[in-house]
Amino acid sequence: MISNIYEFLDKSVAKYPNKTLFVSGKNCINYLEFSHKSSALASKILEFGLNKKPVLIILPKSIEALIAMFGVARSGNFYSIIDEKMPFERVQKIINILKPALIITARDLDSSVNEYGADVIYSDEFDSFELNLSLLSRVEIIDTDLLYVLFTSGSTGEPKGVSISHKSVIDYTFWVSKTFDVGSDEILVNQAPFYFDNSILDIFTTVRCGATLHLLSTFEFAFPAKVVEYLKTHGVTMIFWVPSVLIYFANTRALEHQELKTLKKVLFCGEIMPNRQLNIWRKALPNALYANLYGPTEITDVCCYYVCDREFGDDELLPIGKACKNTQILLFDEDNNLITQPFIKGELCVRGSSLSLGYYGDRTKSAQVFIQNPLHNNFYDPIYKTGDIAAYNEYNELICYGRLDSQIKLNGHRIELGEIEAALNSHPQIKRSACKFTGEKIVAFYEASRDIDKIREFLSKKIQEYMIPKIFIRLDKFALNANGKIDRKALDDKL
Ligand code: AMP
Repeated sequence: MISNIYEFLDKSVAKYPNKTLFVSGKNCINYLEFSHKSSALASKILEFGLNKKPVLIILPKSIEALIAMFGVARSGNFYSIIDEKMPFERVQKIINILKPALIITARDLDSSVNEYGADVIYSDEFDSFELNLSLLSRVEIIDTDLLYVLFTSGSTGEPKGVSISHKSVIDYTFWVSKTFDVGSDEILVNQAPFYFDNSILDIFTTVRCGATLHLLSTFEFAFPAKVVEYLKTHGVTMIFWVPSVLIYFANTRALEHQELKTLKKVLFCGEIMPNRQLNIWRKALPNALYANLYGPTEITDVCCYYVCDREFGDDELLPIGKACKNTQILLFDEDNNLITQPFIKGELCVRGSSLSLGYYGDRTKSAQVFIQNPLHNNFYDPIYKTGDIAAYNEYNELICYGRLDSQIKLNGHRIELGEIEAALNSHPQIKRSACKFTGEKIVAFYEASRDIDKIREFLSKKIQEYMIPKIFIRLDKFALNANGKIDRKALDDKL
């Protein structure tokens, strides 16, 4: 029985001490070195007297970031890792919610975090830390303790911290390893940033199975031909990438005339994967396994999956399939009636060990989406309302049709349009605003008496680069609906 994810590492270290675990550019680290460094960092964290406390990690994707994540976990505390390029105003919002007891960052990054007053560890100090076996032996972790808090966009402008326990990641990692038959000979390339939950699969499956994980930066993915060359050179066997990246590779014909003989498993998750581009992959690598994984951060990355077992036309929707083991999917209509018949749309809800323990420090928001199973009221039985609309098809597979709210996915990034609107509304000259997503770009409408100069610059201090709208349209006045709210439908005519 396993009570924390660090046991995955201990077991693999015992079996494969000298095997390469992580590769990042010219740097690599084996299992034993990684375990030593993360335990030494854990020892340092324990010297601060921290137990089950939040630790904020602000580091770029790197081996150091992984040492920090495992070091925090080994110390019996929990981490939250955020984008090192996040504007400080947003970092501050996260700090206000998380109230970290410690910050782990790099010396060359923005030093404003020092102003917060928490203790700070810099990644260039890691090598100087030493094991303190006496402190480490006193750490007690149970599987319902938190492992991490990942922040996602919040519709009111406040990021939401999804709290995930060891139990959920253990459950997920066992499922991935078994379902996709992951062994110690597996070589993976990680695409997802560590602040995006797709990386959980890459990191923890690798560690549990004694495999090897290569880290590539977001920047490198802008050059598909080079990435394909990298996959070839390093004999990569498995990838789990966001559909936007697979689409980009297909559209840029990066797979043409390439023989990726070792690549046997192509997994994806995070947004709809169009069959048009998937068919290009399937034609280029006909013997690989393709799997469409579905799930929000709130259920530990994935709750539903479909392994492609038949051909699809370019314009068909790819199913998201069926529930993962130890997970239950429930579809409810508007009146909370359970849907079991095909072709009836409802909201996809999830039950199981994968469920988040709620939004950190926000019981109110948590209560809105983590609700009692409407099928009974006999004992505490939480389900998560995903906000996604789904239905069963004729094969009893689930199909996901989109969202009930204004959450969108742009290049794999989860964005609440409300968060952008909140940032726009904070401009002194903007009376109100509304954002629309065309499927390709975000368009911002704002009410003001004149065009606002440097609006992008203003937003870049508040929200992340990928959230900034492509087009800004000024209106003298928004049309309002009967409730006095912005008539959002009327804006469609202006797109
Ligand atoms: P995130 O929390 O960033 O993982 O985003 C979760 C949301 O992404 C889900 O609620 C869905 O709206 C969408 N999503 C994730 N995976 C898929 C998929 N395979 N197909 C369609 N939409 C997906």
